[in-house]
Amino acid sequence: MKILVVNAGSSSLKYQLIDMDGEKELAKGLVERIGIEGSRLKHSAGEKKTEISQEIPDHEAAAQLMLKILQDPEFGVIKSTDEIGAVGHRVLHGGSAFTASVIVNDAAKQAIRDCFPLGPLHNPANLMGIEACEKVMKGTPQVAVFDTAFHQTMPPKAYMYGVPKMYEEKLHVRRYGFHGTSHRYVSRRVCEFLGISPVGKKIIICHLGNGSSLSAVMDGKCQDTSMGLTPLEGLLMGTRCGSCDPAVVQFIANNPLKDDGTPVGHPISVDEVLTMMNKKSGLLGISGKSSDCRDIDELANNGDENAKLAQEMLIYGIKKYIGSYAAAMGGVDIIVFTAGIGENNADLRARVIDGLDFMGAKIDPEKNKTRKEAVISSDDSRVTVCVIPTNEEIMIARDTLDLVTTGKVRDN
Ligand code: ADP
Repeated sequence: MKILVVNAGSSSLKYQLIDMDGEKELAKGLVERIGIEGSRLKHSAGEKKTEISQEIPDHEAAAQLMLKILQDPEFGVIKSTDEIGAVGHRVLHGGSAFTASVIVNDAAKQAIRDCFPLGPLHNPANLMGIEACEKVMKGTPQVAVFDTAFHQTMPPKAYMYGVPKMYEEKLHVRRYGFHGTSHRYVSRRVCEFLGISPVGKKIIICHLGNGSSLSAVMDGKCQDTSMGLTPLEGLLMGTRCGSCDPAVVQFIANNPLKDDGTPVGHPISVDEVLTMMNKKSGLLGISGKSSDCRDIDELANNGDENAKLAQEMLIYGIKKYIGSYAAAMGGVDIIVFTAGIGENNADLRARVIDGLDFMGAKIDPEKNKTRKEAVISSDDSRVTVCVIPTNEEIMIARDTLDLVTTGKVRDN
C-alpha cells in the first residue's frame, strides 16, 4: 500500500509518499507560503526535481496541487489518487485524549479542536491539512499521529507541575512533551539496531534539531521528557530559551528592551514576552547572529565569544538532563543522538559525553565521525552511545498502515 504522509503548518504543507512494500520513499515535497504572495511548491521524486510558483490561496488548493504533481506524467509517481491507500497526518497536540494514533472521524476532529488552546499555532493548521485532504481525496482514510502521544506513559510525578492541582484537573495544565514520534521511532530503532529487547533497558534520547528535547525511556515507555505544556520548556534551542525561572516573564514584561537594547518605555504583554522567548531567544538570542548550530560553530571557531557561550549553554543543558534522567531511572544503558544536530555534529556529541565516564559513558573519537546509524562509544564504555537518524515520516506511515489494515497500531 502507498501511504501519503502530510505535515501541515499555518502556511505550509509538507508531504511524502511512501510505498510500504519495502518502506520506500517515492516522492516528497513542500508547499510554501500558502495564502501569501509568492506561494510555490517544491517537489522531488528520486533524482527528478521541480518547482512550481503559482497562487495557492488555501490548504485545499495546496492539497490539490500536491495530488496534481504526484500524478504528473514527468515528475509524478502515481497514475491515479486511488493508488494512495491512506493519509497519515502529523498533529502537534493530542492533549491527554490521545495515547496513540487514531483514524480521523468526527470525534477525533473534535478532540483535535479541543486541543487548540494547548497548540494554538499548530493544531488549527494540522486540522486544516486533514480537512483539505478529506475534501480532495474523498473516501481515503485519514489518520492522525500525535507528537504528544508517546509521552502519555509518563507517571504523574513527571508530568505534574507544582501549581495548584485544579489547573491540571480543570484546565489540563501539565507536561505533555513533543517530538514523540521521533522519540518513539528512535527508541524502537536503537534496540533493533543493537539486536536487543527494550525490556529492562534504560535509554536516554537526545533529539537535537531546531527544536530540541530529551526523553527518558524505560522498558520502551517514556518516563520523562524535557518539553512541557508547550515546546518552550527544556533545552536551549535554535530560537527558544528553554526552561527559566517563570518570574523572568514578569520581569521582562515590566522592563522590556527593543532589539537595539534601549528600553521600550512601557510594559509589554505576557504574550509578547512568550513570542520573544519562542522566536528570538536560544542560540539566536545568545549569539545575536544565528539560530543555526552550523553558523554558531563557525562563529565560535572564529573566536566569537557569544557564539561560544551559546554552544556551552546548549552542551551544559544536555549534560544536566542526561544526569538527571540517569538518576531518575536509576541508571542508563543507552544514550542516543538524533535529529539535525544530534546526527551531524560530532564535536557537540563528544563535548556532551566528555566527563560522563563517571557514569560509564565514553566516546570513541574515530567511531564518532559518523553521520549514520552507529555505536560511537568506546569498547570499554559501559553505556552504549549511538547515533540513530530519526524518521518521523516512516513512523507516521507505519501507524497509518496498521490502523487502516488491522485497526490498531503495533507496539505503542
Ligand atoms: P527541525 O527541528 O527543524 O527538524 P533539524 O532536525 O533539521 O531541525 O535540525 C536543524 C539543526 O541541525 C540546525 O541547527 C543545523 O545547524 C543542524 N544541522 C543540520 N544539518 C547539519 C549538518 N549537515 N551538519 C551540522 N549541523 C547540521
